[in-house]
Amino acid sequence: MDIVIYPDPRLRKKNAPVTTFDKSLATNVREMFDAMYATSGVGLAAPQVGLNIRLLVYNPSGKSDLPNEEVVLCNPKMVYKSKETESGEEGCLSFPEVNGQVIRPLKVKIEAQNLEGEAFELELEDWDARIFQHELDHLDGILFIDRMTPASKNQVKPVLEDLVHDYKQALADS
Ligand SMILES: [Zn+2]
Repeated sequence: MDIVIYPDPRLRKKNAPVTTFDKSLATNVREMFDAMYATSGVGLAAPQVGLNIRLLVYNPSGKSDLPNEEVVLCNPKMVYKSKETESGEEGCLSFPEVNGQVIRPLKVKIEAQNLEGEAFELELEDWDARIFQHELDHLDGILFIDRMTPASKNQVKPVLEDLVHDYKQALADS
């Protein structure tokens, strides 16, 4: 399972709800975790591996030997976000070498379904809330560069231009 790199248009595509909670969904989830750990990430959304469905996974520890911390969310919805916000540094597996400050609500409440299709609720704050919001954005085709503070956006501009250049080059070579 390869990670889709910016500016691949699959990162901006519409993502369909998960409707079938079967073995192949579970296999995809396992492969997403493997791809995430292999690239030292803490979260991954399905469109980042070329699956345009409303599925995301994360592990706030980023450690494969802490599987109890793995979270799988199918069709997640944010039903509450705090007025209180916090600025924090984010990276993204679809943006190698890019980091920047993003301001997000500190606390969120989520409704989602698990791998069996059962509905559940989750309340998150701080780091976990940040990871979740970053990944949820992916399901809506929103990327963290869209939300970066102007200073960070300015800083990462040359790297983004390099990524666009590399993408065009790869297309031309294929
Ligand atoms: Zn991301």
